[in-house]
Amino acid sequence: MTDAVATVIVTGASRGIGRAISRAAAELGFSVMINYVANETAAEQTVSLCEQRRTSKYQKFLAVKADVATDQGRTRIITETLSKFGRIDALVNNAGIGPRVRDDITRMSEESFMRVMSVNLGGPLFLTQNVVSYWLSKEVEPLSPAGFKIVFITSLSAYAVSTDRAEYCISKSGLSMVSKLWAARLAQEGIQVFEVRPGIIDTDMTTKVKPKYDRLISDGIVPQKRWGKPEDVGVAVKSILAGNFPYSTGEVINVDGGFHIQTL
Ligand code: NAP
Repeated sequence: MTDAVATVIVTGASRGIGRAISRAAAELGFSVMINYVANETAAEQTVSLCEQRRTSKYQKFLAVKADVATDQGRTRIITETLSKFGRIDALVNNAGIGPRVRDDITRMSEESFMRVMSVNLGGPLFLTQNVVSYWLSKEVEPLSPAGFKIVFITSLSAYAVSTDRAEYCISKSGLSMVSKLWAARLAQEGIQVFEVRPGIIDTDMTTKVKPKYDRLISDGIVPQKRWGKPEDVGVAVKSILAGNFPYSTGEVINVDGGFHIQTL
């Protein structure tokens, strides 16, 4: 038995959707680099939850504090992963933020716009560039025939308008194009790229707007008539990492209870 274990970097993995993705990857046998920016206690809880789901003694789970919005932070994620795990097999770009205050587009500040764009759009674009340049410049081979993978966690806000958080919508719409661009560029390298588009998911991000979304869901905005759970997204990403979509790339996987279905 070899001690080499496929390794996935999950950004924003201390809480919510990133935590569920990390747990799902642990169940699949991956080592997981758990990235966070501030919440060390929560990140260490994700490490423990992954430990409970390990399938092999060779798997490792570590938390790394790094801001995906900065070049320094992204470099830290790569160097720490390579020094502690020795390899990178997949990257899940999950870290994301909303505006501090939801306000009408007529009052959206440039500062808020730049903040959200740097975390939600610039961060995943350039972190992916770092990982891809590692894969293309080194003599590294994927452990599994399923190959290397990149996943972008976007949102229904990639296409649905919320005029009180325009910066978020613009960032997710842009990230959807980033996913397509990398998919087109990396197909020839045998690297698959997927966009996973969550709907309304019960996490810290949606706590403040819970009463509004409770109302909308009970009024039928989500055909499956329930909140999404972080685990709903985790299991979708697990399926991608498992190699269950061998003849797909640039695909968008909606995890939204049917929200995207247009009806008349
Ligand atoms: P969350 O509960 O607010 O968690 C956000 C995570 O991102 C935390 O782990 C946080 O780390 C991390 N993070 C924030 N800024 C970061 C930065 N600059 N660098 C590195 N990590 C950073 O959010 P969530 O609901 O799980 O959302 C995860 C992703 O899903 C986001 O991209 C979000 O846009 C997307 N999404 C969410 C929903 C939803 O309804 N919840 C719907 C669609 C899409 P700390 O704990 O250290 O702060």
